[in-house]
Amino acid sequence: MTAVELAPAPTRAPEESAFSAMASRFDAAAERLELEPGLADLLRQPEKQITVAVPVMMDDGRLEVFTGHRVLHSTVRGPGKGGIRFDPGVSLDEVSALAAWMTWKCAVVSLPFGGAKGGVRCDPPAMSRGELERLTRRYTAGIIATLGPDSDVPAPDVNTSEQVMAWILDTYSMHTGHTELGVVTGKPADLGGSPGRREATGRGVTLMASLALQHLGWPLRNATVAVQGYGNVGSVAARLLALEGCRVVAIGDRTGAIYSKTGIDAVEAANWVARHGTLEGYRSGDRISNAELLTLPVDILVPAALGNVITAQNAGQIRARVIIEGANGPTTPEADALLEKRGILVVPDILANAGGVTVSHFEWVQNRSGWSWSEATVNERLKEILSRSFREVLELSRIRRVSLRTAAYMQAIGRVAAVHRMRGLYA
Ligand code: NAD
Repeated sequence: MTAVELAPAPTRAPEESAFSAMASRFDAAAERLELEPGLADLLRQPEKQITVAVPVMMDDGRLEVFTGHRVLHSTVRGPGKGGIRFDPGVSLDEVSALAAWMTWKCAVVSLPFGGAKGGVRCDPPAMSRGELERLTRRYTAGIIATLGPDSDVPAPDVNTSEQVMAWILDTYSMHTGHTELGVVTGKPADLGGSPGRREATGRGVTLMASLALQHLGWPLRNATVAVQGYGNVGSVAARLLALEGCRVVAIGDRTGAIYSKTGIDAVEAANWVARHGTLEGYRSGDRISNAELLTLPVDILVPAALGNVITAQNAGQIRARVIIEGANGPTTPEADALLEKRGILVVPDILANAGGVTVSHFEWVQNRSGWSWSEATVNERLKEILSRSFREVLELSRIRRVSLRTAAYMQAIGRVAAVHRMRGLYA
């Protein structure tokens, strides 16, 4: 039996641990909320952390042992909700931070879910489909005690797909003896997936951009946009912003970025990525670096790729008027302070990219009621929930004179804390 030694992928700059970035935002909000110290300690920590060895028989007959985690940060408002990622950079620290972010994200948009996250440290592009299926099923078996539609509901995340969700559903259902659609979201459409789920996060980002500009009194039509990351979130946001009349002047992915003053055809670029996997070779505009994309003078900047890309080093050069955080954790706490001082409005990740988990909730509701909604109904309810949440956060930021990020955390933490107080302490 050989343990797999994988170098952590550079998915985050080594500026600080993901959990301490989450904790510093939490502390800033908890202090303003004047939370009881004991309750603040309770809310900062995950409820449960599970680490499992995931032995997999590889195609060449070797047995490899991967490491998987599932973290339930809070289930006080409802079942844990959060994705599972397969990535060489997976660590317990990052999974724990992402689980806490899911608690705040679900609370800020008032979904009856808590927060969870999972991951397996592996390198999917280097694995066959069979190896991935065996890894998924064994990991699912390892964490099965926590899973369930009433306790912990995973979803896709980095390098996990609708297919991976179908394998999780099947493994869980084989254990329980009946098909349980509500145990995961982000499933294939024919297996209880919701219409609109695939576009939901990018749709939410677009809506947030429109609400932020409306608040500032600037028109969305002809606003210039730069998008970092051209995967699910970035490409959908670019396409929908273009449909709203924005000019998408820059897009980028892991292979670099392109800039065109007159605008890039977001649909054509998305079709190129669908055919070729990345933007590499796509001929439109001028090639620029991802670092240059972030500092372009645009109205709207959408970081939709990685964490920790807007840092103390480049925050002083950012020239966007509004930042809509499609990615999780793209801005470091140090950068936050600099952007705020420079008057750049940031719609924080827990609000800006909450469209995905909102439609995941719709999927869970549809599965549990044995009913399917139309895409128009999904999009209408998504708009209603996100618009209301944006207004609530904006109002709190005005009243308490804090950034949208601190207000979003205050809103979310306040809601979770209130439920803790109502439920009391089981002892
Ligand atoms: P994806 O895998 O579909 O796309 C990721 C994109 O980022 C790709 O275009 C990739 O090339 C690009 N990228 C990777 N490394 C890069 C680098 N070093 N520089 C520039 N670009 C790079 O992922 P996604 O689903 O679009 O998710 C993007 C972000 O949004 C992640 O932070 C994810 O956690 C967050 N998010 C996603 C959802 C969702 O529903 N998909 C929901 C909430 C948050």
